Amino acid sequence: MTQAPALVWFRRDLRLTDNVALTTAIHRCPSILPVFIWAPEEESPWAPGAASQWWLHHSLLALEDALARRGAKLIVRRGPAVEALLSIAAESGAEAVFCNRSYEPRSIERDRMLEGALEARGIAMTACAGDLLFDPGSIRNVSGKPFRVFTAFWKACLSAPSPAKPIPAPGKIACPLAFSGGPLASLAVADLELPPKVDWTSGMRQTWQPGEAGAVKQLRRFLDHALEGYSDDRNRPDHEGTSRLSPHLHFGEISARRIWHAVESRSARIPAGKDGPVGRSYLREIAWREFARHLLFHFPSMPHQPLQSEFRHFPWGRSRQKPKVWKRWTRGDTGYPLVDAGMRQLWHTGWMHNRVRMVVASFLVKHLLIDWRDGADWFWDTLVDADLANNAMGWQWSAGCGVDAAPYFRIFNPVLQGERFDPHGDYVRRWAPELAPLPAAWIHKPWKAPAAVLAEAGIEMGKTYPWPVVAHEEARKRALAAFAGIPRGTAGA
Ligand SMILES: Cc1cc2nc3c(=O)[nH]c(=O)nc-3n(C[C@H](O)[C@H](O)[C@H](O)COP(=O)(O)OP(=O)(O)OC[C@H]3O[C@@H](n4cnc5c(N)ncnc54)[C@H](O)[C@@H]3O)c2cc1C
Repeated sequence: MTQAPALVWFRRDLRLTDNVALTTAIHRCPSILPVFIWAPEEESPWAPGAASQWWLHHSLLALEDALARRGAKLIVRRGPAVEALLSIAAESGAEAVFCNRSYEPRSIERDRMLEGALEARGIAMTACAGDLLFDPGSIRNVSGKPFRVFTAFWKACLSAPSPAKPIPAPGKIACPLAFSGGPLASLAVADLELPPKVDWTSGMRQTWQPGEAGAVKQLRRFLDHALEGYSDDRNRPDHEGTSRLSPHLHFGEISARRIWHAVESRSARIPAGKDGPVGRSYLREIAWREFARHLLFHFPSMPHQPLQSEFRHFPWGRSRQKPKVWKRWTRGDTGYPLVDAGMRQLWHTGWMHNRVRMVVASFLVKHLLIDWRDGADWFWDTLVDADLANNAMGWQWSAGCGVDAAPYFRIFNPVLQGERFDPHGDYVRRWAPELAPLPAAWIHKPWKAPAAVLAEAGIEMGKTYPWPVVAHEEARKRALAAFAGIPRGTAGA
């Protein structure tokens, strides 16, 4: 065995437990050097959003601290990745690089290029399967093609061999700290200047604990308090009924395998319900994440192009052509309380409940006929869990142009959605407090409330709360007419 250290290149796997690349490198090499390289333009078509960068800053600090407690130092450099890796290898004598495979189109391209460039200098690159539950090549339909329908995909996941058990975190890590040229140079995480210059992140700070320890705490909270009721509560934005693990999963602070096994083992201790083990409906959502990644792997144009080709020429307007309504949507000022509450929750915390994401997205693409790509951009900039695969799939689903998408003629009525999923109006009261004094009967349609009720609540329509930006019934008809222009028999196929 060579005495040279190996580089462990952390990317979207900012964790020590169940980190396949880290454990493999520790087993195969006498010592390791953990490395993080800031090269966002090599990874995504767009620069990471402000909320994502805030999260990454704190997640890197947490990783740095966890590594230091095990005797290792995180080396932080700026890209290009190839130059950074080659120079760290030259300074340390490393002959191998280990990382966990990424399935996003740009990263795939970069890894292919990097492998060649490193190998040309005698450095072996090992990309481990550490992100997904199932390899994208392993879940295919009977014709060997990728699934385009989620239910069939999920069935295939359930009949595939169970995902491997998570690997424990390493104890002490052998990490050389000095070399003949002295200690390796490293930027401080703060040098990357990831948090926004003007600090608007107090809502995010109050809501989240980025990093692996925060992820584990969140998983425990979910298992102890919400798993059992998940299938009933997951659609209720007024309850803390979901796991809120999405940003932790996005940054790889916890692995999908670890969640999978934790949920299965907790679920086995609870009597099964009428739909089977209590954890099943939650694992199904984890499988949606998996589905999104497999889709992006097989259809790399998903973030830019409708997966149903007949939607490619659909005349959605762009946000720049409709600046007034666009602004009202982004600010949570549309006059539809559920939409406004969602957009304000997003702005304040960097997160929005899934049911509300579906409603606000449908509102943008169907009521306002604004292109789903503009909505996806806004989410990209404001979500702490902004994720290329999940975001593109979610928006294409909402617009009706993705695979297995909501049919184009299903146009959510934001009032009925509010009355069904936020029946007492608590979610709206929290995020649109100017409506808080309204009784539940009117909270999702304040413009219909009797004058006396509005006066009693201190609400003046058009002054303290806006009139609806568009009337639902009119918008619905307009959207249906626009969608009717798509060649018959193909839309929604
Ligand atoms: C328009 C739109 C945009 C979206 N953009 C993103 C995004 O950028 N990043 C993101 O992580 N999710 C996105 N989603 C999916 C979903 O809304 C979030 O994953 C979920 O709300 C996160 O909350 P949670 O962790 O409490 O979810 P839970 O209900 O606790 O689910 C557990 C995990 O399963 C996965 N998951 C759940 N639902 C979905 C789904 N519909 N699609 C893919 N994975 C899912 C997530 O990783 C989630 O953390 C989007 C959905 C829509 C409709």
